[in-house]
Amino acid sequence: MKSVVPDFSEFPPGTVTEYTTLVCLACIFDIFTKQIGLAPRSAYSEIKRYSPTIEEMTSRKAARPFFDSDEKHPRCPYCNAAKRWHARLDTHCIEGGKTTDAPRRKLLKAIEKKGDQFSVTEVKSDRRRAFFDWLDTLRISLDFSDSAWLLAATKALLERKEPKQNWDEVFEGSPFIRPSARMEEGWERAGTSLFLSPPLYNESLLVQYLVSRSHELGGRTLAGRLTLIELIRRMRKTHEVLKADQFEILEGLIDEVAGSGNVKLYFIVDRREFLDKVKSVYAAYA
Ligand SMILES: [Zn+2]
Repeated sequence: MKSVVPDFSEFPPGTVTEYTTLVCLACIFDIFTKQIGLAPRSAYSEIKRYSPTIEEMTSRKAARPFFDSDEKHPRCPYCNAAKRWHARLDTHCIEGGKTTDAPRRKLLKAIEKKGDQFSVTEVKSDRRRAFFDWLDTLRISLDFSDSAWLLAATKALLERKEPKQNWDEVFEGSPFIRPSARMEEGWERAGTSLFLSPPLYNESLLVQYLVSRSHELGGRTLAGRLTLIELIRRMRKTHEVLKADQFEILEGLIDEVAGSGNVKLYFIVDRREFLDKVKSVYAAYA
């Protein structure tokens, strides 16, 4: 039986976040048989039903029986089990909203037919949390050793703000990004430059500041390296700043860029490899 891989290509960029984690089945069987005391057969049927929590799937710091590894032949960090005992769990998180409603319904309908191969969890969240998840994913995807990351981070923000626009086209030839005092809002590609209205330009600086602040290049932006105070001074010119404390100001500015209110998140866990591996591992046990 050949299963169709779910297709996320119809979703606008920036609306789907991906997470991957490895799970050690030797650890899981160990927990179920030794710690809980189940017979292998019962352990097997329990494990097949087992669905990890959203925290377990998306946490950047994995805990037993989950772990992360980029190695080709990783070993379980908890029990040293070899690769054949590991299963990969891929999770996609779709941000609910007008631009994702139609492709999401189509996708969920298609995977509903796949039974327990996929699990779908709906979570109520807020725009701020969704924004930080997005920022986290963006940070991982950027290569800070290459200054092109500044362009990539700006493009990612624009994709998030205007998902219907073809940004690959706008960014073709890696334009110079400049603020334009002539524009009150929006952007314009002219020749080798991409002009951004000052508010949009400053929002791109804020995103660059936030993704790079935990990095050794901390606070690097298109406008050079900025301290929090310098960033705020710039943003005061384009955004309303009500608070006095600089950290409260930063929070307020983040809220403006992230948007406020609730958002629904749809987590889709691909359990196919997990189910396959559970079966073969059980065969080795029984
Ligand atoms: Zn293990």
